Amino acid sequence: RTVYVNGEYLPETEAKVSIFDRGFLMGDAVYEVTSVLDGKLIDFEGHKNRLERSLKELDMTAPVTMDELLEIHRKLVELNDIDEGGVYLQISRGADDDRAFEYPDPEKVKPTLVLFTQKKNLRNSASADKGYKVISIEEMRWARRDIKTVQLLGASMAKMAAHKVGCDDAWFVEDGYVTEGSSNNAYIVKDGKIITRQLSNKLLAGITRAAVLRFAAEAQMQIEERLFTIEEAQAADEAFSTSATAFVQPIVEIDGAALGDGTPGPVAKRLREIYLEEAMKLAV
Ligand code: PLP
Repeated sequence: RTVYVNGEYLPETEAKVSIFDRGFLMGDAVYEVTSVLDGKLIDFEGHKNRLERSLKELDMTAPVTMDELLEIHRKLVELNDIDEGGVYLQISRGADDDRAFEYPDPEKVKPTLVLFTQKKNLRNSASADKGYKVISIEEMRWARRDIKTVQLLGASMAKMAAHKVGCDDAWFVEDGYVTEGSSNNAYIVKDGKIITRQLSNKLLAGITRAAVLRFAAEAQMQIEERLFTIEEAQAADEAFSTSATAFVQPIVEIDGAALGDGTPGPVAKRLREIYLEEAMKLAV
């Protein structure tokens, strides 16, 4: 693979970042994953806007302009011949000359920008056909889940806990209510109505979430943004999650309780189809 590090396109084995990089030492970095379909970037605009917000919340600045970022994405897709997959982007606050909690002077320390591509089958997904089994797990991440940082150990632990019991993913629960999935936003469907938690600091504002809710509204589907519990989810007709690389992922079981007939539900399947069709129109 050819990857990008701080202005250079290099073979992945030659790319280097300092051991003092704050992304490495403190998780002081933000990221985005933009999916690629037919060699095109899906909803780059959405990812760009969220990246700018994440940076702002952490008093960080990007080392290149957003137009340059788009060009770097496109060049990596081309160099690595990505027809379907994703582009991972990370901006860390950079490498100070030692370890310290305080942010270094941005005049002296430049942020580290890294991008690499991943080849993956996204459209034809066995997981989407089969549906996911999820477990619930007590929320254990930090309180600013609205910022897309690389502090992902809570998500990793949740996924491992799910795999340990033969499930695919985990939904976090805080004060009795579902916040989101380990790496996706969570939804239930009851009597045709799509229910998902309202945005706040407690969850990430998914780019796919925004697009799916927009497409659902355009298709005259009913949407309710509110809190819901695991018990309500278990009694729902369907459930699903959304993320940039899984699009709309049906969920067929929650904490051992099958939803509906235990197969992907019609609303989730339809939303996946609509998303794939509409998202291509946003591809650049
Ligand atoms: N929530 C969390 C915790 C995530 O990590 C992600 C994606 O990585 C999402 C939600 C979904 O966001 P998006 O649709 O922008 O991929």
